Amino acid sequence: MSCSSEQNPSGKRQAEVGPPPYYHRSDCNICRKQDDLKTGSELLDAPRPGGYIVERELFLVEHAPLQESSAGTVIVESRRHLLDCGEMNPDELAEFGSILHGLVPAVKAATGVQRVYFLALMERAPHFHLWLVPKRNEGELRGLAYLAQQPPLTTSYSAAEEMSRQIREHFEQF
Ligand SMILES: [Zn+2]
Repeated sequence: MSCSSEQNPSGKRQAEVGPPPYYHRSDCNICRKQDDLKTGSELLDAPRPGGYIVERELFLVEHAPLQESSAGTVIVESRRHLLDCGEMNPDELAEFGSILHGLVPAVKAATGVQRVYFLALMERAPHFHLWLVPKRNEGELRGLAYLAQQPPLTTSYSAAEEMSRQIREHFEQF
């Protein structure tokens, strides 16, 4: 399985991206990242600790960028270039629901939190991606104030890698 030559005119690589068509766009940083192409964004081009946490037919889950998230913050992203749930087909909706069903408890178990916040804005890239943010039981901030805090929460590569491993383990046992 590989990308179509249309998306990789250079022919330099043939990534394993699951069965096409994903309608990937060369001007979308999430499409590019999934195809292992550079995006020019320091956040996106950094290696993801622990690789993909979940790799399904229609969705991927990976750890969020270290510079703007706490350990255990993960991002669920569609493989197909689509904006939101309204554009998902029945298979995508079913897989998305099934992933969340296992992933939310897995994040809670790995991070020890009571709440997992959901955040999907699609302002930087018009490609569906949902942040699952473990709400740590520290400090006074809650809700939007917690998500918007400055400086943002950060983590180290090793902490994120370990958390990714634990989330994957819990997810697979679910
Ligand atoms: Zn895209």
